[in-house]
Amino acid sequence: MDFAVAPKMQDLLGRVRSFVQTELYPLESVFLLEGFERAEPVLREMRHKVREMGLFTPQIEQKYGGLGLSVLEHGLVSAELGKSPVGHYCFNCQAPDSGNMEILIKYGNQEQQEQYLKPLAAGDIRSCFSMTEPDFPGSNPTWMGTTAVKDGSDYVINGKKWFTSSAEGAAFAVVMAVTDPAAPKHLRASQILVPTGTPGFTITAKTPCMGHRGEGWATHCEVSYENCRVPQSNLLGPEGAGFVIAQERLGPGRIHHCMRWIGICERAFDLMCERAIKREVAPDRPLAIQEFVQGWIAESRAEINAARLMVLQAAWTIDQHSAKDARDEISLIKFFVANVMMKVLDRAIQVHGGLGITDYTPLAFWFRNERAGRIYDGPDEVHKIAVAKRILMRYHQELGAAAGA
Ligand SMILES: Cc1cc2nc3c(=O)[nH]c(=O)nc-3n(C[C@H](O)[C@H](O)[C@H](O)COP(=O)(O)OP(=O)(O)OC[C@H]3O[C@@H](n4cnc5c(N)ncnc54)[C@H](O)[C@@H]3O)c2cc1C
Repeated sequence: MDFAVAPKMQDLLGRVRSFVQTELYPLESVFLLEGFERAEPVLREMRHKVREMGLFTPQIEQKYGGLGLSVLEHGLVSAELGKSPVGHYCFNCQAPDSGNMEILIKYGNQEQQEQYLKPLAAGDIRSCFSMTEPDFPGSNPTWMGTTAVKDGSDYVINGKKWFTSSAEGAAFAVVMAVTDPAAPKHLRASQILVPTGTPGFTITAKTPCMGHRGEGWATHCEVSYENCRVPQSNLLGPEGAGFVIAQERLGPGRIHHCMRWIGICERAFDLMCERAIKREVAPDRPLAIQEFVQGWIAESRAEINAARLMVLQAAWTIDQHSAKDARDEISLIKFFVANVMMKVLDRAIQVHGGLGITDYTPLAFWFRNERAGRIYDGPDEVHKIAVAKRILMRYHQELGAAAGA
């Protein structure tokens, strides 16, 4: 087994790392202290620079304007970008747009790709994904209240969504709605493209999360669809394929989050070690000589290394086989890495003392924002149960076969 990174990839990673450190770290404070809107002009400038470097939207195929990286390669890039809270945004591979690009590439027809994918991949517009509802369990996407009823050549959409992340300022939403309530539960819903200027599409609230309402890309919105009428040609993929598309979107989406979380872990680790060395609790007595700090550093390093290897192995399995073949690995990293990240962030905050609670470092932002990682794209418990069931099924089969022999 060869763990070496190919020279071409090392060069790319070096360029990304250097850009993140020299260009993005210095502007983080505007984003952290003054919010997305104030940071937007300078972020736009950075996106322009990344475009000029030829590194924009790295995760998608070259024919759509990307770099055509494999999942494993994008994982390595993503771990570099994740070190800054604005890394993915500046490289146009941020959620929820990256997931929407993927489903538009796979399911969008030529017209939809022209109208929605092209400007999204070019970074000219943003989008959102509108599946979860306040009155139904998001962890069971076969059960929802929003409907899309055919009327002439249109769909008329009615329902309430929440946690439609980044809806503020988005040009369109990918909405999941029930198109055939009588169908088997996995075939009831469809995905429909809804331009946000469509009458009947209303952002009713920016949901306050962990004390913040956010702005623009950094929002989680409540959206009402009230007699929201779009042409039937806005259907994405086959009718009734909403659940399948959502699962396909979430597969790579989960691994993308995990890769980003490795970057967060690495930055938090760097900050923790640097602070431990610089902060003296008495003259010539830096925190770094305290054994409990050394314990946190060693434990964090071990956990991050383990998490990183697990993520890369899941990415490799997707590249070599398929996302379906990697579903155990994806579920394992989804809860494992999310929890490692929270532990590492917690330790890094503790080493920083009061400073860790402020927004003068990205630690508090991540601690607030990334706690949701244990909930979205499948809560920890759902992934644990799914993996355990498949493992136990294999034991049942083996034991059954042995008993029958
Ligand atoms: C920050 C953030 C951003 C999000 N962005 C988006 C977005 O852009 N678009 C979108 O559509 N949605 C988004 N979501 C919604 C997210 O996908 C849902 O919150 C998630 O699917 C869980 O659904 P729920 O909140 O309804 O929790 P519920 O389904 O009510 O589940 C609550 C808890 O019950 C437990 N649980 C649930 N099912 C099971 C089970 N089968 N077995 C055991 N325990 C179980 C879990 O502990 C779970 O946390 C976002 C959520 C957050 C927090």
